[in-house]
Amino acid sequence: MEIDGKTRVCGLIGNPVEHTLSPVIHNTLAERMGHSLVYVPFPVEAGRVDQAVAGADALGILGLNVTVPYKSDVMASLKEIDALARDIGAVNTLVRTNGGYKGYNTDMEGLYRAMLSEGLTISGSEIILLGAGGAARAVAYLCAVKGAERVYMLNRTLDKAQRVAAEVNAKTGRRVIEPLAVEDHAAIPAGRYLAIQGTSVGLAPNVDEAVITDDAFYDKVHTGFDLIYSPWETKFMRLTKAHGGKAYNGLKMLLYQGVIAYELWNGVLISDEDALAAYEALRKHIGQA
Ligand code: NAP
Repeated sequence: MEIDGKTRVCGLIGNPVEHTLSPVIHNTLAERMGHSLVYVPFPVEAGRVDQAVAGADALGILGLNVTVPYKSDVMASLKEIDALARDIGAVNTLVRTNGGYKGYNTDMEGLYRAMLSEGLTISGSEIILLGAGGAARAVAYLCAVKGAERVYMLNRTLDKAQRVAAEVNAKTGRRVIEPLAVEDHAAIPAGRYLAIQGTSVGLAPNVDEAVITDDAFYDKVHTGFDLIYSPWETKFMRLTKAHGGKAYNGLKMLLYQGVIAYELWNGVLISDEDALAAYEALRKHIGQA
């Protein structure tokens, strides 16, 4: 793509941002759509997110993704926040409007589209969710709004799971999230569950760690979905497969949160074919093509 006087800019604010894969998604989509658009990472120092957002607005930057550690902090700098993002309590996408940015959360919808693309269903399902951090909170919200039958939320710090479960149950008007301490996982009733791994345990370089390693736990798991995509196959995924389950990593979630952001910025719908092309570009980039 040739950069000229009409090229539009999108980007990512966070700290650190050096290892982000998002440019691969957006630059591939721009190329395929024939849009003159570039996507660049912008590291933002602690305490300067407000200046970063104001500066981006002044420069006419079309849209921004927001990553760790600013997904909550950035909310104070926005003109408007989408209702879903407000309920989740985190914003990962900013869309420039007249007079400032509007904040959205595309992580949750990204996970949903990723699950749909793998033929996984939330509605009516019995789910085990590992973790109660920022990502797991969005997953819990997704499960509640998409009609999960029950969600056992397991976390190392039980009171955090209790707080998140109470909040999500109250906001969605459904009493479906049940908090448990990780070490009490044997209390989950016998059955076959979709397990979503939303902790940071097992993330490279700690590739031989899983938040639960007990065989009896994996006997209850028919499908494991890890939000982590580095390594390509986590220990949680390996254990799930070893007990006869199917396992997926988080790269499609990353892909679709980006696809949805691209759609919001450009007012277009990305076809499955174009999304798949961005996925292949991501796989190639990380050596998993
Ligand atoms: P976070 O807010 O820091 O939460 C971390 C979670 O991991 C908490 O539940 C924490 O439990 C748990 N945890 C951390 N170390 C642990 C340990 N040693 N033993 C047991 N539990 C431990 O992080 P996050 O933003 O939610 O991200 C979680 C993971 O999701 C990360 O690996 C991230 O890469 C991934 N993610 C992927 C995508 C994607 O697009 N695929 C998007 C977002 C996030 P405590 O509450 O007890 O500390």
